[in-house]
Amino acid sequence: MEELTASISVKALVQHTLMSGDIDDRYSGRSTALEGIRGHQQLQRARGQGYEAERRVAGTGRFAVCGDRVREGDDPGADERVVVVALNGRVDGVFADRSPVEMEEIKTLRGNPAMLPESHHKLHWGQLRIYAHLLLAEIDSDSIVLRLCYLNLDDGQEHTYETLASRASLHDFYIDTVARYCRQLVRLADWWALRDTTLGAPFPLGAFRPGQRALATTAWRTAIAGGEVVLQAPTGIGKTMGVLYPAVRALEGGHREKVFFLTAKTVGRQVAESALRDMQNVGMRLRSVTITAKEKVCFTGTACDPEVCQYARGYFDRRERAVREAFATDHLDREAIEQVARAHVVCPFELSLDAARAADVIICDYNYAFDPVVYLRRFFDADDSSPYVFLIDEVHNLVDRGREMFSAGLDKETFLEARRGAGPASRVGKLLMRANRWFLEFRKSLPDLAEQGIVTSGELPARFIARLRTFVSEAEEMLREGLDDDTQAALLPVYFDVVRFVRTAEAYDSATYVSIVEDRKRRFRARLFCVDPAPQLREGLARAAASVLFSATLFPKRYYERLLGVREDAQWYALASPFPSENLGVFLLPIQTTFRARERTASEVAGAIATFVRAKPGNHIVFFPSYAYLSLVAEHYAAESGEEVAHQTRHMDEEAREAWLARFQIGTRVTGFALMGGIFGEGIDLAGDRLVGVMVVGVGIPQPEVERDLTRDHFGEEGERFAYQYPGMQRVLQTAGRLIRTEADRGALCLVDARFTQPFYRELMPSSWAPKVVQPARFNEALYAFWRGATETSAASVASSAMTGRDAATAASGEGT
Ligand code: SF4
Repeated sequence: MEELTASISVKALVQHTLMSGDIDDRYSGRSTALEGIRGHQQLQRARGQGYEAERRVAGTGRFAVCGDRVREGDDPGADERVVVVALNGRVDGVFADRSPVEMEEIKTLRGNPAMLPESHHKLHWGQLRIYAHLLLAEIDSDSIVLRLCYLNLDDGQEHTYETLASRASLHDFYIDTVARYCRQLVRLADWWALRDTTLGAPFPLGAFRPGQRALATTAWRTAIAGGEVVLQAPTGIGKTMGVLYPAVRALEGGHREKVFFLTAKTVGRQVAESALRDMQNVGMRLRSVTITAKEKVCFTGTACDPEVCQYARGYFDRRERAVREAFATDHLDREAIEQVARAHVVCPFELSLDAARAADVIICDYNYAFDPVVYLRRFFDADDSSPYVFLIDEVHNLVDRGREMFSAGLDKETFLEARRGAGPASRVGKLLMRANRWFLEFRKSLPDLAEQGIVTSGELPARFIARLRTFVSEAEEMLREGLDDDTQAALLPVYFDVVRFVRTAEAYDSATYVSIVEDRKRRFRARLFCVDPAPQLREGLARAAASVLFSATLFPKRYYERLLGVREDAQWYALASPFPSENLGVFLLPIQTTFRARERTASEVAGAIATFVRAKPGNHIVFFPSYAYLSLVAEHYAAESGEEVAHQTRHMDEEAREAWLARFQIGTRVTGFALMGGIFGEGIDLAGDRLVGVMVVGVGIPQPEVERDLTRDHFGEEGERFAYQYPGMQRVLQTAGRLIRTEADRGALCLVDARFTQPFYRELMPSSWAPKVVQPARFNEALYAFWRGATETSAASVASSAMTGRDAATAASGEGT
């Protein structure tokens, strides 16, 4: 049998093999990477003569494996397989000239190490023991002193634990640990071998759609060669399958280890799941996991505390079996994960993360790769070079999502609310009251705030942050000691908000952040706003060996080039639309829709909608930039046409959304009013005659707000465009993309706003469009010409017969002739 080789850091090895006991999130104690480095250096410098810092250790072991039986040696029997494991790591410090030799592992943290869950201590000792085993291979000694030193960054105190270990005991420990890893590795390798025999299956959709082959080839080349590619591919080309199929082909032979399909929206996740099912239908075997947000899949809604959650208690002792049984089916979507989790009494969220280790494809939100608080450390913090491929769906969303992920805010009122929930006299209540006082002192330290209501600065509020750190330490101590359910429920949301705020402060950099303090309408809020997400997105992208970023709308290129954080040598491609351009009629209606003009022109807009809808029987959707504007025009439209519309309403849940979309069927005549950039503005798929017309009212400019104004100020000359105009046009183009979904679709797109006729906006429209500027008085005529497929000249002569909208509709549909 072929040898199996693996190279792994000692830290990763113990994490893979030695976790046991409970999930316990009551105390994280985590310090940042930078704080950790500084803490390490501070102690290492203080250790004095004879101390060798950062000593490298490495060693390779050969093992013969058959099922669960593992033994050291490379003389395999007939049924055994040789596994070669190369370990490497760096010991924080060694006193090699002492007898016995001493070595230490330093761990920096915030808070008292006694609060760390037992499972963490076990990992730290495990790491130290494996290091010691590797070190003893280089040193002539039968025993060694192991020292585990925790440095509490809050008070600078060292907490040291020591033990003397013999060469023989360390060797036994090493064999036991590596044997566990070998078993996992052999099971995984067996799966990979089986999977690889199926990856040559044909493209699941039969023939490639026009343009899809070029997309797939580019994605495949990038997945194999590494680097980054940014693909603008029009709606309907089949982007998800076009990138996922080639990316999984790159897994063959271990070229890449995993594909992460990163998406911003539920619909993107569903499309990826469906693509995987299509691959399965043509015989491809792939293990996939969908990671759903913790708050959505949590069975209990409590804290991850073994004392209150049975799914947390003993999780690590049951997880291996649960993961193995979960993969009785290849695709683990949310439902499948929940089913297995209930059967094994394990946390569904943690199970999805553990299953992801054994998966080939992981479907998850952007934040699991990019968010500094929740990114998947188990994959991305390994020292080994990254073997992953990122497929980033609808990547135009990443700019704003990046800003969200890298920003944080705190509201004084939430502390007072939590205090009411916890009880003012309780310890937690008193802590929250103290935090409230810190807010008040912070407010006092800003003399301009009372007058201006808002103060912005490029400086971090350092004193306030230091106090919040104290809050985190004390809250963790209380959580660790145990709180009753109500108090814990009151404290946890605030605690998580503060942790995020403090972590965001650690990434704060005056070149990319602005501090905002607001005291308005009896609300006092502090926010660390990431105005430029590019550097941190860059860090996220570096977690993959290859990234394919794709979207239907990525122009202007300079905007995304500046903000997505892609490498300078990233390749950019824009694929042409696969659909006949004459199937899309684009009309620019120069009606004023600026905020001030809305009341005045609402009736004219309503009239244009009536004309648009009557010109072609079928389903139409009109998109507005705000609910207020939507309602205003809806009133005029009802008065003008007497027809009802299907309104998008605020807070529509999944069911309401589906019900709304279900009204748009072939043969129905529904007019929908919806919000640009809302739940129907992106990701809906009403192919064929389910949608014949889309009208977009306004240029999509977002509502003015402090953060956007700061963005504008930050980017100087380009500011107005970066903050308002480009994001607005992005929404318009995404919305327009709802219309033509297949080669056979034919539809009318009407953009209503005088600004659309300006060169600036015309340049932002796809080159495949041939927009016509049409005055409202001639709109009916132009639509009629389009729907009849007639030339403008003949349409003009037909229109001169003064047909009404209704007549035009009848004529276009062929009814009554
Ligand atoms: S079920 Fe909920 S509370 Fe329990 S461990 Fe999982 S996420 Fe935490």
